[in-house]
Amino acid sequence: MWKRKSRKGRRTTKPVPVELCDLCAKVFPENESVSGYVPDSSAADPTHPWADGLRLITACCDDHFDVVKAGYAHRPFVEEELWAAKLTRTLTAACPQALSMEQLGCRTGLQEPQIRAAIAWHNERMRDQQRTDP
Ligand SMILES: [Zn+2]
Repeated sequence: MWKRKSRKGRRTTKPVPVELCDLCAKVFPENESVSGYVPDSSAADPTHPWADGLRLITACCDDHFDVVKAGYAHRPFVEEELWAAKLTRTLTAACPQALSMEQLGCRTGLQEPQIRAAIAWHNERMRDQQRTDP
């Protein structure tokens, strides 16, 4: 008698997956989302390396998707930036010890000149930030 299985009066306890619009920040059910990828050289996907250089946009409607997409259309695609994003992902992915150039190449799929160009690009940006920050 203590194992009553009646669902009478019970609310739905299963959480509905929700998404957040990249433009208006509205929360809506996942199955109503409008999403797609746009080119973005700062995007290195932590779980889907095939999506490197692509940014997933999620929006509440077609109009908002188009606005966010248009914002990326004028963003320059810088290869060095993408290489730097891949390096950052590799270096922050739970490997406390320093990696050799060869190991970095294996893990990122980049050639040594690309790794050096990415580090130079990253360092140049850091210097630019320090110059603009008071
Ligand atoms: Zn929206």
